[in-house]
Amino acid sequence: MSRYVILLGAPGSGKGTQADTLRQSLGLAHVASGDLFREAAQKGTELGKLAKSYMEKGELVPDEVTVAMVLERLKEPDCSAGAILDGFPRTLEQASALEKALQQQRGQGIDRVLYIEVSEEELLNRLGGRWICRQCQQPYHIVNFPPKVEGRCDKCGGELYQRADDSMETARKRLEVYFTQTSSLIHYFAEKSLLTRVNGEQEVEAVGQELLAGVGNPL
Ligand code: AMP
Repeated sequence: MSRYVILLGAPGSGKGTQADTLRQSLGLAHVASGDLFREAAQKGTELGKLAKSYMEKGELVPDEVTVAMVLERLKEPDCSAGAILDGFPRTLEQASALEKALQQQRGQGIDRVLYIEVSEEELLNRLGGRWICRQCQQPYHIVNFPPKVEGRCDKCGGELYQRADDSMETARKRLEVYFTQTSSLIHYFAEKSLLTRVNGEQEVEAVGQELLAGVGNPL
């Protein structure tokens, strides 16, 4: 049996880091819509060019394009046991398109939605100082979690870079978009009794433990 878990949370809430841990513990694929868009932008595909124009402004890429891309990705063999969805869905339209596709495919919608809660003040602080490994995507923070060697990843030695959309101005916009467009999903999934809330302002390991507990026993 497969399982589909959504990681919900604002930009900077730690979704990427936690998705990686969950992926290892649960043996599921990690599907991050933002990573898919960045890959496409790097390759210079039509989808990438389109996505880039929205990402640069901190706005959402249109639903139709986003849904098609993620549903295509979920058909790949590494997703046969299911996936941890990170950064998707971000709108009610995306959520219902995903539920519909999963219902059709396996007769059951989303299994669990894990919501990582972090205050707005802390999010701005995190995003403004964030550096990411170009190779393995591990995030660092200039104050809260600096790398041992400046500009290099502790895990793989890769080069660290600052995402263009992590500038203070774009970070503010991304948070505004999150609070106006994405946070309505919290209520939506809570109504369906699918939501587990986790305090995202604890140590990374503690957040990870709570998330794992929220998913329930692995199969
Ligand atoms: P992320 O890495 O998840 O913070 O995403 C970076 C950017 O990619 C966002 O600011 C959006 O421009 C775009 N993006 C990622 N996921 C989605 C989504 N589910 N819907 C629309 N736009 C998205």
